[in-house]
Amino acid sequence: LLSMQEIRESNARSYPRRLPLAIQKAKGVMITDMDGKQYFDCLAGAGTLALGHNHDVVHEAIQEILNNLIPLHTLDLTTPVKEAFVDEVFASLPESFAGKAKIQFCGPTGGDAIEAALKLVKTATGNRSILSFQGGYHGSTHGTLSISGTTSPKKHIHALLPDTHFLPYPYEYRCPFGLGKNGHEFISTYIENTLDDPESGIVTPAGIIVEIVQGEGGSVPAPIEWLKQLRRITKERNIPLIIDEVQTGIGRTGKMFAFEHAGIEPDVLVLSKAIGGSLPLSVVIYDKKLDKWESGAHIGTFRGNQLAMATGRATLQYIKEHHLPEHAHQLGYYMQTQLKKIQQQVKSIGDVRGRGLMIGVEIVDKTQAPNSIGSYPGDGELAKAIQKECFDRGVILEVGGRHGAVIRLLPPLIMKKEQIDEVLVRFEDAIKAAEK
Ligand code: PMP
Repeated sequence: LLSMQEIRESNARSYPRRLPLAIQKAKGVMITDMDGKQYFDCLAGAGTLALGHNHDVVHEAIQEILNNLIPLHTLDLTTPVKEAFVDEVFASLPESFAGKAKIQFCGPTGGDAIEAALKLVKTATGNRSILSFQGGYHGSTHGTLSISGTTSPKKHIHALLPDTHFLPYPYEYRCPFGLGKNGHEFISTYIENTLDDPESGIVTPAGIIVEIVQGEGGSVPAPIEWLKQLRRITKERNIPLIIDEVQTGIGRTGKMFAFEHAGIEPDVLVLSKAIGGSLPLSVVIYDKKLDKWESGAHIGTFRGNQLAMATGRATLQYIKEHHLPEHAHQLGYYMQTQLKKIQQQVKSIGDVRGRGLMIGVEIVDKTQAPNSIGSYPGDGELAKAIQKECFDRGVILEVGGRHGAVIRLLPPLIMKKEQIDEVLVRFEDAIKAAEK
């Protein structure tokens, strides 16, 4: 199987290259390979598998669709399955946002929904430019790559969207202004001044897009106070705020939606990954005052995936009934505390951070001089070596962020404390082995 992957599969994907794994089966947090070896899955479909692999409620939802001859494809037509899904989604949103929101089904991926969100705000405002943040990631299509701050995937793709500008993100460990924990205040002032300066080269934008915790950018949480400021700044200037919760949404960060940590609301909310309950689905939910679409202005074939709506609804119900956001909050806090203890035992951890079960461990080279705020250069090679040592010890995790130097942990929300403890033992062992 692995040789098939080597010979026939495109080089464009990264996970299959870094994780030489052929999967036989998977249940809950565990994956079993073709030789029967078991792995803790702390990548969980890049944050998709909130309930882990093959959860019973997901299976039951699929069975119900199959048993009742519900059409598997309906374009975007209405069915009771779709109606029930929409009810569940709206019941999960903060009431004040749900009361004024509309939902739009998009293609199956997060990138599809981001594309729709960009077109939505452009249509609604008549403006063209989009502001986003350094280090942000919003997808791999031309449009979504254009507004992604991560630069490496753009290397060979020249003609990207015009009128895209990147603002500094409040990444505390590497504050672009070198100001550490207070840097976010200066970033707010910078954004405000830039928007108000007629010579800044930024015309009134159609929207600003932000991740509450940058995912692919290295599990970087934005400070709550800064998020409140960003909301104030955008509201005062009537600029739609698009919150990309493709990765943070549906309980991962310890709240159903990550924006709830800051007590703010988006104008446009983008969801994918976990909202489909293991299957591909994406939606944009937005303030109906932005609904200036002409009929047929944003169409597509695969928008009505009944299976994904059923599994998505079942997943949302289970998450609420079992208080998984609170569980993610507690377990994430525990995991960060334990990782900070490991930080004291090893040489190469520069920073441990995250929100809920979206955790980043930044691997650095402490033989180099720290910068003015005490952060060391990232060590992507060592991070990769740690990922490999973890893999050998039966733990699947991801690397990302600047220089690929951040180990990213996104385990299923159903993970138990004992499982976290086992992962941490293996992680410490792996990092010590890689450091040798
Ligand atoms: N936005 C964010 C925040 C993401 O993390 C991702 C995927 N990692 C996307 C958008 C794009 O989603 P997809 O890969 O499904 O296109």
